[in-house]
Amino acid sequence: MIPQEYIQEVVRRNDIEDIVGQYVQLRRRGRTLTGLCPFHNEKTPSFVVYPDTQSFYCFGCGAAGDVISFVRKYNNLGYVETVKQLASRAGMPLPEEDDKESRARQRLLEINRCAARYFYEQLNARTPEAALARRYWREKRGLSDAAIRRFGLGYAPEDFTGLLHYLRRLGFSEEELEYSGLVKRSAKGNLYDIFRHRVMVPIIDVRGAIIAFGGRVLDDSKPKYINSPETMVYKKSRTLFALNVAKKSPNKRYILCEGYMDVISMHEAGFDTAVCACGTALTPEQVKLLTEYADEVVLSYDSDEAGQKATARSLAMFTDADIKVRVLSYQGAKDPDEFIKKYGRERFAMLLDGSADPTEFQLKKAAANYDLRDSAGRLNYLKDAIDILARKGVTPTARDVYAGRLAEETGVGKKAILEQMNDVLRSTQRRDRRKEQRDLAGQGNAADIRVPYSAGGDAALGAASAGRQLIAALLQSPEKIPYVRQRLNMDAVVLPEMQEALRAIFRCADEQLPVNITSLQQMLDDKPMAEVNRAQAVNAGHPLQQKDIDMYLERLDNAKPISQTVKGTTDDQFLSAFSKLRKEKGAADPPQSD
Ligand SMILES: [Zn+2]
Repeated sequence: MIPQEYIQEVVRRNDIEDIVGQYVQLRRRGRTLTGLCPFHNEKTPSFVVYPDTQSFYCFGCGAAGDVISFVRKYNNLGYVETVKQLASRAGMPLPEEDDKESRARQRLLEINRCAARYFYEQLNARTPEAALARRYWREKRGLSDAAIRRFGLGYAPEDFTGLLHYLRRLGFSEEELEYSGLVKRSAKGNLYDIFRHRVMVPIIDVRGAIIAFGGRVLDDSKPKYINSPETMVYKKSRTLFALNVAKKSPNKRYILCEGYMDVISMHEAGFDTAVCACGTALTPEQVKLLTEYADEVVLSYDSDEAGQKATARSLAMFTDADIKVRVLSYQGAKDPDEFIKKYGRERFAMLLDGSADPTEFQLKKAAANYDLRDSAGRLNYLKDAIDILARKGVTPTARDVYAGRLAEETGVGKKAILEQMNDVLRSTQRRDRRKEQRDLAGQGNAADIRVPYSAGGDAALGAASAGRQLIAALLQSPEKIPYVRQRLNMDAVVLPEMQEALRAIFRCADEQLPVNITSLQQMLDDKPMAEVNRAQAVNAGHPLQQKDIDMYLERLDNAKPISQTVKGTTDDQFLSAFSKLRKEKGAADPPQSD
């Protein structure tokens, strides 16, 4: 097995235009290149290369794929052989060397798995210190034994070589152990355990592999927390603790907590979508990960100053993210965990439903910056507050309500405040419009968005086309996958190969693979792959937008009854009915691309 990353790298390093250009005479037409298809006999070119998506498509014979498929088909080679040939052309070391890396990665994960078992066994040992650790989890954290098992919680005893000897006995080398970050080498040259007399939390990635550990002291000594260092399997900035559990929840409102102890308590209280960043402030990668799985994020940090600072910082990270964000607002407890223990989970659930919007939070924070008893302070606060209210995403009603409140707080008339706000709004709108125009100019003719389904026509025809269009849209904007996945009624997608293609696209997201032809052609048979290639080729150069996606989803929803009648027919019956319909409607095959 060649590692996925290696294959993607081979594709990245072999530009399709260069490679195909060696075999086919290509002529540039706008953003694409055309030539005579090498796979069928023709006199007028219907073979198109798309540098944007690094793919090719022949409108004559349907030959299609990425650079690997081209070389493979042209030279009649096997898949692995083709990858190797392209790799050596790009000067990459052969995949065998990379196999060594993936073996090392497997070993590392195995060390972590064994270490987790060791920590769990130690928690249940008959020693006074293990009893202390059990008491910590059960009494101090209020966890049931089931929760302890579910999260694989454990205990690292006060012993410099306990884990070291355990893992050595299992056959891991000193080198491997040092690499795992679980042990360190002393100045004298001896290896020793880094986690000692700490309760242990395994950090598990989205696929369920243990990639690192966090350890906390049982009392108030310092350092309170130690985490595994980064290794080839653990990248802090890309990890969200408990995402492997949260992703299985039907609830798409995620609770973002400060640390893994908070997350574990939340889950124990029945809130199974709690997650947190491990040992870092929230990163852009984590925000992206969240938008893939969640529809909404509620920031649930401590009520102290550090927690509020973290809230403001995380909130800023979400500014451009396409996801709803709210801030949990609570009183009478230092953190959400204490709140649940004091007031119960129902009250907390109510809190979640009513969690304050970011505007509220930002206004409160702005107010805290100034002394509102003095007029200069009030004026500065007013200026900041108006900027906050003029931001995108604040509704006109909210603006009006807050303007009233600001008037009360500052003693400035509401009318004056609204007038000022309108000034700011007008200038930001002007700025946004200019930016939009610039963006459009850069995109070429963005208004020309093709929506090839026969509006008002037969629902089945529309639905088949809508399914294909969704495939195209997801290839163009993989960040829409969670959105589509949640709303899509798979049964309404009539062709089984389109269903397969959509499922493979979802799988790419689950496995964090790039959503492109290279990934998909390894998962799909020829028929569904042909759908993917066609969908991408037909829509090349036509950016599909949110409103298009919504329209396709709606179209599929409306077609439900027809798809159900279709279920009773065989594929071939349906396909022939479908092609008859197609002729009647005059919905010709897609025109050749620009
Ligand atoms: Zn062809």
